Amino acid sequence: MRIALVSEHASPLATLGGVDAGGQNVHVAALATALGAQGHDVVVYTRRDDPDLPEQVPFAPGVVVVPVTAGPAAHVPKDELLPLMGEFADTLAATWTAERPDVVHGHFWMSGLAALDAAERVDLELGGHLPVLQTFHALGVVKRRQQGARDTSPAERSFLEPGVARRADVVVATCSDEAFELKALGVPSSRISVVPCGVDTAHFTPNGPAVPRGERYRLLTVSRLVPRKGVGNAIEALGLLVRAGVDAELVIVGGAGDAGHLEAEPETERLRRVIEAEGLQDRVVLAGAIGHDDLPAWYRSADVVICAPWYEPFGIVPLEAMACGRPVVATRVGGLIDTVVDDGTGMHVPPRDPETLAEVLADLLQDPERRQRYGDAGRRRATTRYTWRRIATETARVYGRLAARSTAALRTGER
Ligand code: UDP
Repeated sequence: MRIALVSEHASPLATLGGVDAGGQNVHVAALATALGAQGHDVVVYTRRDDPDLPEQVPFAPGVVVVPVTAGPAAHVPKDELLPLMGEFADTLAATWTAERPDVVHGHFWMSGLAALDAAERVDLELGGHLPVLQTFHALGVVKRRQQGARDTSPAERSFLEPGVARRADVVVATCSDEAFELKALGVPSSRISVVPCGVDTAHFTPNGPAVPRGERYRLLTVSRLVPRKGVGNAIEALGLLVRAGVDAELVIVGGAGDAGHLEAEPETERLRRVIEAEGLQDRVVLAGAIGHDDLPAWYRSADVVICAPWYEPFGIVPLEAMACGRPVVATRVGGLIDTVVDDGTGMHVPPRDPETLAEVLADLLQDPERRQRYGDAGRRRATTRYTWRRIATETARVYGRLAARSTAALRTGER
């Protein structure tokens, strides 16, 4: 199949860890690569944020990235991208009219908006129906519920995003929690498919080099440094542990810049203040952004990986930790409800509750046998359920169904 993936802000070419570069970048890059490896012809359309990029960037066998000019060829925060989507859609429509893909898959609501707009113009031009699938990666309705007035999404998201959900041929939800949210937005179950994100289980493995560490128990978080990731709660939990006599440390991976040059972003500064207030300067390491090449060694160095977001549309980090054979203590929210098995691959805790987090960690740190059991089960779960090969196969099955329907309709001249 000729597959067009649209990911307006999250380019497979981006460096991970900054405010707008996380799981969606990983998802689009890995899905494209796995689809390419299965013999499909994949083009990833992303907004041009660098004037020096060529027209097409070969990314993996069968996969090219096409940077689409829409607005300045420089970084633009994702919450300011909406006005640029018309220009983005114009290029998509012209490109797809010249060479029609079999299926289009939008990632994030604004990509869906541009993709649906362009596909409708292709239909008018060429006849037939170019099918559009949509993966949201995050839902504005959930973000607004969680963040209230702090939500910096454009106000139009509140009605444009549900419109994308209702217009797309299929919405691919990444977890059951998202499927419930989509139904509440008026998307019928018959147009929702649940396909989770995956993890590179050949790269994230239990065996291999680990970052050196001392005697202290090591806790680890890996995330973009934004408040909802709950890194502040992990620091507070460490404070409680230390005051209870547990000799532990916390390594925080993520942020814009590397350890020596972490940018003074608001959340990084806030976390520094929490660390100081808790008196944990010698027990918390702000490691900065770490590339995927080096991340397995960081996971392997940890006794427990903490994922404590207040909400989480999916969450690839727990899968990476599980693939590295580490036990995960995760809040019982969003995708983490599906991926982390309570008392199986780790433990669930309520969000925004450092006391319970500290209690659960204290028990687990004292029980090496249980940590090993969770870690082993996590590795098994990652390799059986969450390989990108399997995720690509499941996604391609949905593509194939829609593409076959549209080819049949093209033949009979139906819409
Ligand atoms: N990540 C990384 N380096 C960092 C911080 C994060 O490579 O310093 C990666 C992490 O390994 C994961 C992704 O960014 O693959 C985060 O994805 P997740 O779904 O957990 O969260 P999101 O950022 O999408 O909210």
